[in-house]
Amino acid sequence: MDLHGRGIVLRQTKIAGGRRMLELFTREYGVISCGSFLSAAGGSKRKSSGHLALQPFTLGGYRIREEKGRYTVKSAEAERSFYGLAEDPDRYGEAAFVLELTARLLPEGVPQPRIFDLMTDMFSALENRRNRFLTLRLAYEVKLMDLLGVAPRTDCCVRCGKKTGLEAFSVPGGGALCGECHRKLTEEGYPDRLIYPARFDMMNVIDYFRSNPLKRFEKLALNDGAAAWMQNVIRRYMAYYLDVDQLKSEAAMNQEGMLQWKSH
Ligand SMILES: [Zn+2]
Repeated sequence: MDLHGRGIVLRQTKIAGGRRMLELFTREYGVISCGSFLSAAGGSKRKSSGHLALQPFTLGGYRIREEKGRYTVKSAEAERSFYGLAEDPDRYGEAAFVLELTARLLPEGVPQPRIFDLMTDMFSALENRRNRFLTLRLAYEVKLMDLLGVAPRTDCCVRCGKKTGLEAFSVPGGGALCGECHRKLTEEGYPDRLIYPARFDMMNVIDYFRSNPLKRFEKLALNDGAAAWMQNVIRRYMAYYLDVDQLKSEAAMNQEGMLQWKSH
């Protein structure tokens, strides 16, 4: 049986015999692990569209053959290459992070068309932005968690349900805490690790990310201090609920001093 789908290569590994294994995220079928004789470099042959489709950050049309539960890419055609992502090291780092984070969170074989669209929207938005990528990254993380059903609660206190006076953000509680509950927890000696004061209008910012398209953030940015602080809190939240601690692409960016990974 042949499957036809639009996809992006999340990861590829060379294996024996000139073959490679691809982890392909298709809009129609979700993530599929498949073998391929196509190569991204194209070898000595003229570069064909099939080879281009295996380049990183390229949206392609794929024909995949399924035989006895194994998948093989029979042909691929590049549809859109996000060239701009490779032109700038910071932008490339951000795009690599998006790819790695998304790959870590997607189960195999479950169609996730909205996450697929979010990822391609993110690549366009990154291409169109010149600098200060952190706000875009935050918006992506919040939207991704929303689609995975694990976004934090920001509309009311996770402990008492009160909708006003939300002064803190509790990672283990799963979202906002009102001032009163925060004080009570502190008095009861509840370990205040992973509970943060809700700085920089955090709840409204998260809501804004959730309810606006990524395109809106191409030209809009939080100030650097607010973005870095919020990124720290959101990443701790993601590490707690999604088991994604620091990723390879993040470590690379941190080494370049782009993000402070503050210990708390
Ligand atoms: Zn409360």
